[in-house]
Amino acid sequence: MAQIIDGKLISLQIQEEIAAEVKTIKANNGKIPHLAAILVGNDGASETYVGAKVKACEKIGFKSTLVRLSETTTDQELIYFIEGLNADADIDGYIVQLPLPKHMDEQKIMEAIAPQKDVDGFHPQNIGRMALNLPTYLPATPYGIMQLLERYKIETVGKNCVVIGRSHIVGSPMSILMARNTNPGNCTVTMCHSRTANLKEFTLKADIIIVALGKAEFLTADMVKDGVVVIDVGITRVASSETKSGFKLLGDVKYDEVAEKSSFITPVPGGVGPMTIASLLMNTLKASKKEIYK
Ligand code: NAP
Repeated sequence: MAQIIDGKLISLQIQEEIAAEVKTIKANNGKIPHLAAILVGNDGASETYVGAKVKACEKIGFKSTLVRLSETTTDQELIYFIEGLNADADIDGYIVQLPLPKHMDEQKIMEAIAPQKDVDGFHPQNIGRMALNLPTYLPATPYGIMQLLERYKIETVGKNCVVIGRSHIVGSPMSILMARNTNPGNCTVTMCHSRTANLKEFTLKADIIIVALGKAEFLTADMVKDGVVVIDVGITRVASSETKSGFKLLGDVKYDEVAEKSSFITPVPGGVGPMTIASLLMNTLKASKKEIYK
């Protein structure tokens, strides 16, 4: 039976470590890390995510600033605010909460963010630096997964790793990170997607499977070998009569049966999800200490 990778616990540990560092910074009259977030429109899920990020900042002693803009904001107007944050010496890093309203050009907006302050790690310059194994801000979800592998001391060197999904925020960066000459890393990586023929042939050979496709309970026991490490990124909300809220969250893995065959597995919820905030805070601390761009 698998060892459960407890993302909630690791995320809290990381937040405690950062809080201790902020205490020392304050005691030495150093610069208090300051994260800003721009929220455009009134999307409910985005409100929740940004709210959680601001709350986490308060808890660990960071300063935080929330900029709220209306649903009808134009690209030009948003870029005006972005340029303000780029020039504000007190702001160490900031995020523009995605998704943006449909009329906006997300790529253009990402490129307006100063790479030095891009703590979400989405600017092409930072993605290029990641690919070249240069110091950079790693995107939150992949960074969180690397932390889980590291802190659970999961052996990755020389292993076969299959990544299912090639999105810019999860699958693609994950496949780059797992193939890099780093630890964790040094895997032989196969990146699979919706056009992959005979997916099962690949997953059956995998020592590590990172599943990020957004289809509930997609990965089943017959697709994995004994002893596999499974990282489940997927989150799908389904109706449920078992919970008070009337819904529950499912991952991309058929958890009970795959756990039987795995050596390590992340649950949903409580696995990868809680790590994204920890990653953002780690990146903001790095920005404040000018660790990436000296
Ligand atoms: P996405 O942009 O929708 O990408 C999904 C990927 O899965 C695509 O590359 C797609 O291939 C591939 N795919 C779809 N059907 C497939 C199939 N039958 N076989 C193999 N590959 C298939 O998704 P995303 O943004 O990466 O998110 C994936 C999931 O992770 C979602 O459930 C999302 O909610 C969740 N998520 C969780 C966190 C977290 O913090 N836990 C963070 C981000 C995302 P094509 O490229 O060919 O279309």
